Amino acid sequence: MKKYDRYKFVKEGITFFIYSNPKDLLKSYFRGTRGNKIAIYHQYEGKKHIYSKEDWLDALHEDGFWAYLRGDVVHLWFDKSADFKDVLGLVAHELGHLEKPYYGFIREEKKACRYSDIAELAYEITERVTINKSLKIN
Ligand SMILES: [Zn+2]
Repeated sequence: MKKYDRYKFVKEGITFFIYSNPKDLLKSYFRGTRGNKIAIYHQYEGKKHIYSKEDWLDALHEDGFWAYLRGDVVHLWFDKSADFKDVLGLVAHELGHLEKPYYGFIREEKKACRYSDIAELAYEITERVTINKSLKIN
């Protein structure tokens, strides 16, 4: 069975691998590494948390989406029931990592999070002005 669908956006020079399940995504993340644990730096807090592969897989099932960037390829999985806005924010976050300059670690995550925040805000505003016009002030 195919582990992912490949999307290449030639004009943008970006490739996405969309995984059909979180286990394959995680397997690809750990490929080439000898470790069984992953260190996650929680954005803004700067705290380091160590997760085992199993714990991380549970967390992915709970969250319903996750992605990482390797080179210029975005590896992504989302559950079919995931909220559209969350997936949009995730894609924007990874695209944010591709924008220069690349800072690394916590500052880089903050930069990428700004992209997802802006994308999610743009989505909300667009939804309000195009679908729910009742929110108009005057
Ligand atoms: Zn990130």
